[in-house]
This record gives sequence, structure tokens and C-alpha cells, in this order.
Amino acid sequence: MCGISGYFSRSTQPAASQVMLALYAQQHRGQESCGIAVSDGKKLRLHKEMGYVKEAFSIQTLEKLSGFAAIGHVRYPTRGASAICNTQPYLIETLSGPIYAIASNGDIVNYDEIANELRVKGVHFSSKNDGELLGRFIVYHHEREGMEIVDAIKLLMKRIKGAYSSVFLTREALYAFRDIQGFRPMMFGRVGDDIAIASESCALDILRAREMREMKPGEIEVITRRSERSIDTEQQPLLGNTPPRLRHCVFELIYFARPDSTQFDEYVYDVRHKIGAKLAEHDDFEADVVVPVPDSANFIAMGYANAKNLPMHLALIRNHYVGRTFIRPDQYTRDESVRQKFNPLKDFFTGKRVVLVDDSMVRGTTIRKLVRMVKGAGAAEVHLRIGSPPVRYSCYYGIDTPTRGELIANRMSIEDIRTYLDADSLKYLTIEDLQTCVHDSSHFCYACFDGNYPLPRDTQRLIREKEERQTTSG
Ligand code: SF4
Repeated sequence: MCGISGYFSRSTQPAASQVMLALYAQQHRGQESCGIAVSDGKKLRLHKEMGYVKEAFSIQTLEKLSGFAAIGHVRYPTRGASAICNTQPYLIETLSGPIYAIASNGDIVNYDEIANELRVKGVHFSSKNDGELLGRFIVYHHEREGMEIVDAIKLLMKRIKGAYSSVFLTREALYAFRDIQGFRPMMFGRVGDDIAIASESCALDILRAREMREMKPGEIEVITRRSERSIDTEQQPLLGNTPPRLRHCVFELIYFARPDSTQFDEYVYDVRHKIGAKLAEHDDFEADVVVPVPDSANFIAMGYANAKNLPMHLALIRNHYVGRTFIRPDQYTRDESVRQKFNPLKDFFTGKRVVLVDDSMVRGTTIRKLVRMVKGAGAAEVHLRIGSPPVRYSCYYGIDTPTRGELIANRMSIEDIRTYLDADSLKYLTIEDLQTCVHDSSHFCYACFDGNYPLPRDTQRLIREKEERQTTSG
């Protein structure tokens, strides 16, 4: 997942502080590490650390990051180890010093091919991260081949397959660009005469931005002190035999985004509410109470409860200081987090027929413990409702889903999953029902549910190679 931000100040607002606020609002998109790079017109400076934004950026640290343009990143890892060398933004050194920086959200499908091409030309990498690849691609073509930066980004869009919503900083300018299929979100807004960019609209709300809009897939924004340009690259023909151009990640709406964000022209809370109502449509058993797995299932449960005219109670209390279990990088911390994260309010469960609602199920680790916890709190029955279709395939567009073999819905039938979880009943949302919850279902990616990876046919082999590598590396 990851979250990005960019800020170009034409006022007295310090850019780094504005980016810090935007990152703070997007902490849910990545908790492993964070960083901010800033330009004062002469050189770029960078501060990055493992951990949370509020701990990484003290007032003293921000004072050292003076400048009029800044970019920032919160990371959750998809490629590369959990280490400071893989954190973003990347500062790219040249003979003139550190004069470029990049931060990106996404995942590059043909990473190896492009990285090897650049290595042969003498480009060195200090990490295995996609953001660095994008940055070095641009800088190589600008510095060594004499291309304008905008032309280097256009070439990048032709050559690099996958998901990337990115901000690129030079001494004078801030660039923002988004892959041509629009997998990951990216918002643009104005704060007075300043420009703010962020993954989610909730971050721009914090900055009191106005004229907010979603950046178009394939769009490049170039912002300097004196000018501002939006270039719509219209790269559709490059996709050749791919079906429709847009492939927004539907999981952003189901799980990742904050409910107060607007994404892909949808209100996130509203989509979740509709999902809950859809789940309820097919149920005709008697229940006493609806309980969400907080927080991302809250609106789904509300939609379910409203449709069934049942009470909804926030009866699982979440410790907000533990972090999101799904985005913890290893199994041990994930297991520990589940136990430490939830505590049931027993009065709401004792003797009750409970509809327990979650947004999705990946490994089944968390929900199995929760079903046990709810039964331990006295529930007479636990009926599990999942606000997404079964996740059967890995994601290669910026979400750290595990290998196929680790996905519970890939290994087991629905009935076997129900038995494994010890639930009295289990139902998932269907893809067809999910598609009725968004305005234009043809604009979305559903590959983790149906395995239909949205790439031109000639690049489908890259996905197969990735899967084989995952299988052989265990
Ligand atoms: S595969 Fe799933 S998680 Fe990945 S971009 Fe597509 S919908 Fe989103």
C-alpha cells in the first residue's frame, strides 16, 4: 500500500511541515517507516526513519527541513526487506550532489527487466525498491540521454508496467504522476496559492485544501514557482490488447482507505455501507446483534444492520496503538498483534446470535481467533460475513498479499474455511454484488479475486514468472 504526499509552497507555509501533516493523516497506509525530502532551491535534504510519523518528525527535525517544496512517504513493504535502505523518499546523488528525490506508491511488474537494462548502462541501485527504480529511470534519461524530465516520465509510462502513484522532486520543481491504469489513488488540491498532493483526500482535508480532484491515470503535473502544467499523456494505445484502461484497486475501497476519503470518485464510507446492505440481502436467518471487526468493517456492519433492522454494537474494543494486523510484515508480529489488539465487551455477546462482520479474509489468522474470542465471551452463535469476495490470488500492484498458497480461500473450500474458523455460518460478498456497489464496475481491478491480471497479454508472462518465483522460494 504506502502513502505519498507532495507540497509546493508559494506562501510562507513550510513545505516539510505540510507534508508531515499529510503523512500523519495517511499513517494507516504504512507504519513501517516514513520520510520527507525537501528542496530549498539549492539542494535537497532528507530525513527518514523506521516507525511512525509522529515519532520521526519532531519540531527540531522539521526546522532543519526548511524549503519551499517537499515530498514524503509512509511505507509498508511490498518489495525489499524492512530496513532503512528500503524506506522512501529516495535521494538520488549525481555529480552535482543530491538534486533529485522520489516517493512512490505501487508495485512494478517488470522490475527485473528494467533494473537489468539500467544496470547494463552503468546505473547502480542501493535498494530493491520500486521507487528507486522509477527515480533512477527518470534521472538516467534526463542526465545521460538529455531528455526533459517530462519526456523521461512519458517514456517511463511506456516502458514500466504496474502500479505507481509518484512524486518526484528537483531543486526547482515538483512532479506528480500516476500510472496509466490508475491502480493507486492520487489526489491534487490547492491551499491558497500552494499545491498539495496526497494519496488520499483525507490528507488534503487536514491541509484545508480546496479544488480537490483525483489526478487522471497517465497524468503528469509539473509545479514550479512561476508555473503549473498538467499533461494528460493519453497512453491508451500503448496498452494494445488490454481491456479498458482504468484498473483502480477495488480493495482500496473495501479495506485500505480511510472511510472519510473520496477515492476513484467514490465516497469510501458509502461503498462500504452498500457492501453491508448487499451482504444482508441474501441472509434470512434470525440474529440478535451485528458486530464489526473494527475499524475497517464498521461501515460494512452498519450497512448490514440497517438493512436487517438489527442493532449494531461496537462490542470488540480495539487497541489503536498496536497497528493493523494485515500490514505487519511477519507472521510472529501478526499473531501477537491479534491477541493484543481486541477485547470483547461480554454483555453484548452473552447468549446472543451474533453476525460478525469483517471486510476481508486473507490468511484467516485474525478472524479465527476472533470467532473463538466472541464464543468465549458467551455468544450462542457466530455468523461470519465478509465484505469482499474470497481472496484467491496474490496482488502484484502494491498490496502485500501473501503467496497464493498462504491465502486461505486458495487452499480451502468455503465450507472447509467455516469449519476451520468454527463459525456457525460463513458468507462472502460475490464479485457481482461488489460490482453493484461502485458507479462504474468496469474501472476496477478484481485480480486478487478472479486472477484476471489487468496487463497486456505479452506481459502476463511476468505475472506467471513472479508466481513461479514465489512458489520456488517458498
Ligand atoms: S489484485 Fe486486488 S489488491 Fe491488487 S490492485 Fe487488484 S484489486 Fe487491488
